[in-house]
Formats: sequence, C-alpha cells, structure tokens
Amino acid sequence: MVVILNISNQEPDHRISLMSTFVNTLIQWQKQYGRHSLPWQGTNDPYAIWVAEVMLQQTQVMTVIPYYQRFLEAFPDIECLAKASVDAVLTLWSGLGYYSRGRNLHKAACLMMEHYHGRFPQHAAEIVRLPGIGRSTAAAIAAFAYGERCAILDGNVKRVFARYFGITGYPGEKKTEALLWQKAEGLLPQVNAKQQMATYTQALMDLGATVCTRHQPKCLSCPLQPDCIAFAENRVASLPTSKPRKPLTSKETTFLILRNQNEILLEQRSSPGIWGGLWCLPEKPIDINSQTYCRQFMGIDILPISNLSPLNHTFTHFKLRIDTQLLQVINRPRKKTASEVWLTIDKALQLAIPVPVRKILLELTSSNSF
Ligand code: SF4
Repeated sequence: MVVILNISNQEPDHRISLMSTFVNTLIQWQKQYGRHSLPWQGTNDPYAIWVAEVMLQQTQVMTVIPYYQRFLEAFPDIECLAKASVDAVLTLWSGLGYYSRGRNLHKAACLMMEHYHGRFPQHAAEIVRLPGIGRSTAAAIAAFAYGERCAILDGNVKRVFARYFGITGYPGEKKTEALLWQKAEGLLPQVNAKQQMATYTQALMDLGATVCTRHQPKCLSCPLQPDCIAFAENRVASLPTSKPRKPLTSKETTFLILRNQNEILLEQRSSPGIWGGLWCLPEKPIDINSQTYCRQFMGIDILPISNLSPLNHTFTHFKLRIDTQLLQVINRPRKKTASEVWLTIDKALQLAIPVPVRKILLELTSSNSF
C-alpha cells in the first residue's frame, strides 16, 4: 500500500518521524548510489563550491567540468578573481553561455574584497545578497560549505517535490513556487549536523539529476517511490506542470566579416545587453546596404565577397537568424578604439566570443574561404 506523506497536516510527533524517514532514506540512498567524484565535491571551500554552483545553474554537469577546472586553475581564490579583468573571466567563460554569470562572479569577488576582507560570507542570508546568487544557490553553498540548515529548490529539486507531493501548477509561478519552498523547508533535517546537511542537499540534487529525471524517470529504482504521489496516481509524465507556452518571436540580423589582409574586425559589445562584454563581429541592421553602412558608420570602404549560410540561434525569449557577409576592406581601417580589435581568425577564436561567432569563424576556416 502506498503511504502518502501529507506532512503539513500531521501531528507534530508524527511529522518529525515522517521528515526523518524522508531525510534518512535520501541520505542512505546518496551514500550508496549518489555522485561522489565530481571535481567540486570533497571540499568545503565556499569559493570553489560557489563557482561550481553558478556554472551548474544553466549548464549540464559534463559540460561544466572542464570549464570549472580551467577556471579554478586560473582564479584559485576570491582575490585572484577580483584582480583579474572582466575580459579574462569572460574568455574562460566563452562557450558556456549565460555570460552574465561570469560577469556577476567577478563583481561578487570585488564586493567580497571590499566588504568582507576577501572572505566568503558565512550564512545563506548574506550569500544571497551577492550578485548572481539566488535563494537556492545561496542555500546550497551554505549547506555544503558550512552545514547550514537551509533548503534548496533548484529546477531538479522542484521536479522531485512536484512529483513526490503531487503538486500541480507551473513551478515558475509564484503560488506554486511558494508551496514548493514550504515543502522543501518542512523536510529539512532536524539536527543541524554539518555532514547531514551536505549529504541531504547532495542527495536531492543527485536524485533529481539521475533518477527523477525530466524524461523517463527511473521510478522503479527510486528510494522515494513508496510514498510518491505522482507514481501512485500515474501522473509522473504530467508533473511538474509545463510552462504556459508563448511562441518565441523571431528576429534577424547581419554580421559583417571585414577582411583586411589576414585580419578581421571584432567589436566588444556594451554591457548590459545581449553578449555584453563579449567580442563580436560588427552587426548591421538588415535594411541598410553593407557598403553604405560601412562607409557611413565605420568610415570603411568595402567590396562584397560572399554570403555565408544563415545561422539560427535561440535565446530564452527569441530566435535570431544571423546572415553573415564576407567583405574585403579596400581603404585603410578607421582609427582603432578601445572596443575594437583587428585580429587573425586564430587569435579571434581565443577571445571571449559568443557561440554563433565561434561557429561562423570555424566555418570560415574549414571552408578555406578566407
Ligand atoms: S517515484 Fe518516480 S516520480 Fe516519484 S520521486 Fe521517484 S523518480 Fe520521481
């Protein structure tokens, strides 16, 4: 028989016993089946944990690992990160996407040097005030580094709780999210034992990432299955409730590859904004002819050479179709400013550049059309 844990309606004694069953079940499961050898595990250095948690916010574990290792090698502590230039940070971030994360890491390191004597704040309530850190990330850092008793609720954990408690409603909506936070806090281990909080937090993350997955969850080997409402009611596939869909809008733009001998022009984009702080190919509005645009806005005369295949790139809120024109510069390039560089393609590929620009430059080198 399936026992449904409706914790909030239980008498206090019974509630505590159900909570400890939930916690103990997950802790035992994590010790036996959880992940133990990720590069950011086995440390209680809040800096190293912070970098990992921020990288993992929108990126898969396997993608994060090499980026994390390179980042910690280059910037092993808060002081090194704060002393680095934003450009150096973004260069190491290049290809990981969501670049505001890299900019915020740098900004937060500078704030910690200024306001915390270069030390990482020691409580989730302070950590959450740093730029780029939400409530769940702050709680994860505090639980792993200091064993603080605080609840996490990242995307994976929302999915686990929505299914386990049979909660309908899109978890991004305020009302549903508030209910999920209430459940997450209600289930926290009662004893504030440092190791217990770290293992419990890791267990929730591991269960969401490896068992209670978005597609084809492995319910038959899940330690929570005996009490899981979604499983009992055959609602696993419909929980959590999907985001109400709005069609993505489409936009178009044109990138210009200005070739001057064996070099091309890259411009640093202003921040904030899309790809803020990254180096990008010059971009022109689609309704202006490239010769007119280059002459009027850049003081450069050009001859068109060829058009590359269009590229589609999807952002969270819109799709972007990118047309790219290869152009030959026929007069001397205008005087350089701090936000532009002329570089060979090999050197350009070493800068912090957005993924579509990287794809375009790689296509150019592989097609021998440069
Ligand atoms: S039984 Fe299935 S749906 Fe329920 S928590 Fe486990 S994996 Fe998720």
